[in-house]
Amino acid sequence: MKSTLPPPVSGERNGRRSDVPFFDQSETFRRLWSEIEGNCVRVMDDGKFSHGSMVAGFERALERYTGARHVVGVNSGTDALVLLLRAAGLRPGDEVIVPAYTFVATASAVVHAGGVPVFADIEEGGYGIDPDSVAAAVTARTRMVMPVHLFDRLADMEGVGRVARAHGLTVVEDSAEAIGMRANGVHAGLLGVGGVLSFFPAKTLGAVGDAGALLTDDDAIADTARMLRHHGRSGRTLAAFPGISNPTVVTGGNSKMDDLQAAVLLAKLTRLDADIEHRAALSRRYDDRLRDLPGVRAVPGDTPARPGEDRVVYVHLIEVDDRDGLVAHLTAAGIGTEVYYPRPLHLQPCFAHLGHRSGDLPRAEAVCRSAVALPLYADLTEDRVDRVCDEIERFLTGGSR
Ligand SMILES: *Cc1c(COP(=O)(O)O)cnc(C)c1O
Repeated sequence: MKSTLPPPVSGERNGRRSDVPFFDQSETFRRLWSEIEGNCVRVMDDGKFSHGSMVAGFERALERYTGARHVVGVNSGTDALVLLLRAAGLRPGDEVIVPAYTFVATASAVVHAGGVPVFADIEEGGYGIDPDSVAAAVTARTRMVMPVHLFDRLADMEGVGRVARAHGLTVVEDSAEAIGMRANGVHAGLLGVGGVLSFFPAKTLGAVGDAGALLTDDDAIADTARMLRHHGRSGRTLAAFPGISNPTVVTGGNSKMDDLQAAVLLAKLTRLDADIEHRAALSRRYDDRLRDLPGVRAVPGDTPARPGEDRVVYVHLIEVDDRDGLVAHLTAAGIGTEVYYPRPLHLQPCFAHLGHRSGDLPRAEAVCRSAVALPLYADLTEDRVDRVCDEIERFLTGGSR
């Protein structure tokens, strides 16, 4: 017997039919239900729920999609970052330069891998790490730099690469948000020694829980990461340890990916490029309505592309003068928003011991006061984008238009 999803709840779940949630994938599941169901039943029949054949199938599919020599599936983007840093050779006490404007996991992963995060500012007119600020942050203990590809753009990988070469730094990428983004045909995460992907539900390719992956073209990094995700086990007998089968080689942990997540992701991956195109069209629609409104400082489409860049809009982020007023207005109108990010990392309590003060990294601090993300997801309709724009216009023009 074929099971069915319950009738649509989208738009009514949170109250009025006219509400626009910040994120919703109920329609996406309805659209892809037969593929998702088929893959999930295969996992149940197979009886292997982590590290099984569905995970392996998803890894191979993602290698084809990204062009990576190795994809290592794990349980979250955050663990993928920790494994990447360790596998790329971070040693206790090594410094890793990261942007101050990013999700906190970028910097906390450095701490979990035994390193020390050092914060750099973002570039003028963009959200990526500023290569000059990276150069200024280098010390004798700096070993790596980790640019982040935020929202809809790659970081300045050429500029970061120049600084890294000059100082002998390894480049690892927090490409958690960057599925589908490429520079001259090379997928994000493969522009340094390795990168990650997050499949947190709200990401461009989202699971039904947590999942992530590490990407690399480097055989040794992939090998180490595969051990680290599975308690440090090598998975094969090593000549150096005769008599010990499946030896535990390094101190690892449990970062394995669930096969049920892989089952959903494998089904959604077949539609990813179409979803990305739809996101781009919605993003242009937002831009056309919003760029000339009073108090709007920046819309995504007006940031110049980097040379050879394939853009993917994961988050549609605008900057406005009265951000908090706009958020309050939209919330009252039943429209979801998210503030990415409310506070730069160098001013977060968990990094207070690093001794930063307000004013140290002014561009990161300024954008935290003006940025807000608008609803954007695979099955968001143009009507709903128009409704969000109507409300923004009403707020910014005082209802005069
Ligand atoms: C989502 C995200 C992460 C963490 O990924 P999880 O899968 O949620 O652990 C790390 N860095 C950035 C920039 C992200 O957006």
